[in-house]
Amino acid sequence: MNILLIGPPGAGKGTQAAFITKKLNIPHISTGDMLRAAIAAGSPLGLKARSIMEQGALVSDEIVIALVKERLKQTDCNHGFLFDGFPRTIAQADALEKAQVLLDLVIEIAVPDEVIVKRLSGRRFHLASGRSYHVLYNPPRIEGCDDVTREPLIQREDDHEETIRKRLSVYQVQTEPLRHYYKKLAQAARLQYMTVDGLREINDIKNDIMLALTKIERSV
Ligand code: AMP
Repeated sequence: MNILLIGPPGAGKGTQAAFITKKLNIPHISTGDMLRAAIAAGSPLGLKARSIMEQGALVSDEIVIALVKERLKQTDCNHGFLFDGFPRTIAQADALEKAQVLLDLVIEIAVPDEVIVKRLSGRRFHLASGRSYHVLYNPPRIEGCDDVTREPLIQREDDHEETIRKRLSVYQVQTEPLRHYYKKLAQAARLQYMTVDGLREINDIKNDIMLALTKIERSV
């Protein structure tokens, strides 16, 4: 099954992606993670992407499409995959159609902007381990320090409030049109489209998605 998770930054796509990929045993393709890995590796692509990402803008369609096309060549994608954060523009979605990479299911996680700002601006990370915290919802035992190593926590550059607001407006302008794009494909019975309320508990959202997946699997 080829699935797309769509929703604003901070909607909880990464969290639900982990559940879905485990259940279906398919790879999680997150262009944000791939770009961050390129930055960490200091590759030419990483150097190009870094300042764009720090500003909350979108990396060019050309770069991201090439990155995803390369990734899809790997054999672990043969039996399906989960896209998270891609496509993010109509041009990226069109590129998929052109390459005949067809989606079976689009899952939209809906969360209002103000909730997103609260969620993202409170996130903190321990760089070496990837452990994540939230100043309100999941605070570390000692403020600003990782629970295990006591090393300092960092805030992602693009999680600063001003940048979050920029990312939200980029989402509204560039990515929201994709909702209509895929709803139209759903009307034409080309794929299934479901919207989940991202304000509910993580487990409730997970259960809704798992139920939908089981139904779709049965109908295939
Ligand atoms: P994410 O982790 O998905 O929120 O992505 C972090 C940042 O990576 C975004 O704010 C963009 O700068 C960049 N990025 C990730 N995916 C894409 C994409 N599909 N198209 C363009 N830029 C992207």
